[in-house]
Amino acid sequence: MRFRKYWKQTARIEKLIKKYEQLSDAELQAKTADFQAQISHGQSLDNILPDAYAVVCVVDERVLRMRPYRVQIFGAVAMQDSNIIEMKTGEGKTLTATMIMYLHGLTGPGNFLVTANSYLAKRDAESMGKVYRFLGLTVANNRSSSDSSQELSLKKKIYASDIVYTDSGSLGFDYLFNNLASNSDKQFIRAFKFALIDEVDTVLLDLAATPLVISGTPKANSNYNQLADIFVKTLKEKQDYALSKDRKKVWFLKQGLQRANRFFGVTDVLAEEQQELYRHLLLALRANYVLRKNQDYIIAEGKIVLIDENNGRKLPGMQLQAGQHQALEVKEGLKETHEQSAVATITYQNLYRMFTNLAGMTGTASGDKRELMQIYNLYVVKVPTNKKSIRKDFSDLLYYTTEAKLHDSLTLVEDSYAKKRPVLVETGSLALSEQYSKLLLQRHVPHSLLNAESAAKEAEIIKSAGQVGMVTVSTSMAGRGTDIVLSPEAQKLGGLLVIGTERMSLRRIDNQLRGRSGRQGEPGATIFFTSLEDKIIKQFPSANIDRLIAKHRHDSQLIRFRFRHLFTKLQTRIKHQEQEARFNTLQYGEVMKLQRDAVYQARNRLMTSAVDLDQVVINSATAAIADLTRQPITDINLVTTYIVTNLDPTFLGKLNRRFIGENLADNLTKLFERQFAAKRTCFESEEAWTYFEQTAILKAIDDSWVKQVDNLEQLQAAVQQHVIGQQDSLFDYQQEALAGFNAMKKDISLKIMRYLLCSKVTGSTDKGMQIYFA
Ligand code: ADP
Repeated sequence: MRFRKYWKQTARIEKLIKKYEQLSDAELQAKTADFQAQISHGQSLDNILPDAYAVVCVVDERVLRMRPYRVQIFGAVAMQDSNIIEMKTGEGKTLTATMIMYLHGLTGPGNFLVTANSYLAKRDAESMGKVYRFLGLTVANNRSSSDSSQELSLKKKIYASDIVYTDSGSLGFDYLFNNLASNSDKQFIRAFKFALIDEVDTVLLDLAATPLVISGTPKANSNYNQLADIFVKTLKEKQDYALSKDRKKVWFLKQGLQRANRFFGVTDVLAEEQQELYRHLLLALRANYVLRKNQDYIIAEGKIVLIDENNGRKLPGMQLQAGQHQALEVKEGLKETHEQSAVATITYQNLYRMFTNLAGMTGTASGDKRELMQIYNLYVVKVPTNKKSIRKDFSDLLYYTTEAKLHDSLTLVEDSYAKKRPVLVETGSLALSEQYSKLLLQRHVPHSLLNAESAAKEAEIIKSAGQVGMVTVSTSMAGRGTDIVLSPEAQKLGGLLVIGTERMSLRRIDNQLRGRSGRQGEPGATIFFTSLEDKIIKQFPSANIDRLIAKHRHDSQLIRFRFRHLFTKLQTRIKHQEQEARFNTLQYGEVMKLQRDAVYQARNRLMTSAVDLDQVVINSATAAIADLTRQPITDINLVTTYIVTNLDPTFLGKLNRRFIGENLADNLTKLFERQFAAKRTCFESEEAWTYFEQTAILKAIDDSWVKQVDNLEQLQAAVQQHVIGQQDSLFDYQQEALAGFNAMKKDISLKIMRYLLCSKVTGSTDKGMQIYFA
């Protein structure tokens, strides 16, 4: 059904193209204002679509010298229905996007094209930007300025553009920063109307388990780290601790806990008062037995640098959360960095759920159809290729050992190199690609190595990977988004030969690799070399397989028939595990989302002048005083201290018993009212007073919220590590999170009163007001 509708629409657009081709440049350009006028009169984007797309197609040809193929128009039509289009690599997603981005760009700022990395955002904003600019729309690529005084004005300019090309991380961080602004002048995001996500599977699936975190003030480091590390290094697997099958989770066994009690001289490390110690023991355990050097992280210049498991790319600046980074530093004997507390976080899932309209593009998504539907309400539409694919995908070759596998794959590279056929070799990790490169050198095969240093450099190398005599070794996905162009001679030699040196954990990623070859109906071939020692098999240890490997240690021959479906089965299992993890993140993220939305909404209301700020202060004070006086108080000192810290820092008087009696609440309220009126007289104008009130209230909210965000982070880490697989952990988390939120609200009320009455203020609004918060 859908398909027929989209094809009909496509045919209509092709007719309109013929009509618009007759127009002059100026006439085409006038179309933008025409469409915008229609929109302002209530016309829907769906109704404008055929004409708008046809105009863009004509302009694509005039400006870029590329006329969108029929399948590209079809893809653009399908996307407008909030679909993800699956379009094979090399079919031209970049150009396809111009149609739908223009259509949404007509409505003004708030439209984003999300690319896989910032290099692509810049490149595509420049090349495709010519089309939008020709048609009178504004376009920008999202970037940060090295000069922080320029940062805000730059961001304002970027977000005021009709169309913004950005990578996902920058967009998420911008959103978080936008909501940390101290007044509305410092906010820059206009709207979240439409997002078209390129490589949508990577963004919504692969990245979805790791939230974005803005870190703030350092916390004092704990001295448990060193001791915990020394202790866990003495432990034995299966006696003191155990690992899950996939070796991604670790926990203490009874004997390990008993040894911990003795080592630290405590009666029970699981007791409430040993929480901090136990948390550090878990962190050390994970650092030592789950996280692997050169696979999960590397050490560069004395620092831990995390590695993206999927593409081997370094993730500089990224830190493991909640103290894990420090535990890792101690394990490796490095200098400990300060543990930072989280200030703001958001998951990608929640970031994209804020958009009114979403669409996506990818080379490979059909395998994850259901999940994309359930979580994002996005349907996957397959777009046929422009020309029939003639690429040959050979069946996997399977060996007993890594050695035998590598030997044969190297021979194939050598043979192809002798014939000058271009070859792209993909390895599963950074370390392996370096090893492979050495082995090639031993065989005197010159080659380029993509070592995940910079996206720009990779793009440069990968561009020429299709020339005769080129051999390129890379980690998975390196240099993605860049076309491998075949020279005519290379085509005659059979096109690009892609060699995978192992199957990746997900079939989708294997397919992405295959898609590197045989684009646009060109010749090409792909083949995977696998062995029983591959990473994916090791994730599910089996005595059977270990025995086989031991027996055939020196066997270099291929294994036939048996195990044919092994990899497919394992990949399916991993896919399900990852889906579960994402679902988990989503559920935990939901709690954070609810609380974050409430706080951000409150902040935004306060920043627009619609709110009566005096009333906010009065309500807060009433709530804070009610909270204090809920129980009868007999301690005069306690009340005096309360007054000095929260109501009147200069208070010297002596309270009598009558004051703290049953009228305590009234007495405090009267004191508040006096103080409040007095404070107000310190300000020369209403405007200055409002500015002060607003700043104090926001500061109170932010201080408490930042603490709560960090609480939630710690809490989630603790709950998830504590009892693996226990059903109730989410429930526990929700309960604790809610209790924390309520405590935060009380804290905010008290702080509003305190900041308002006890802060020192110098200067004035026009001379620069300085506020020293109490
Ligand atoms: P994808 O992102 O789908 O892998 P790209 O957008 O990188 O593909 O495009 C692949 C190549 O095809 C690019 O070199 C692009 O210039 C070219 N291309 C795309 N569409 C057209 C078209 N309609 N006519 C001519 N060349 C095109």
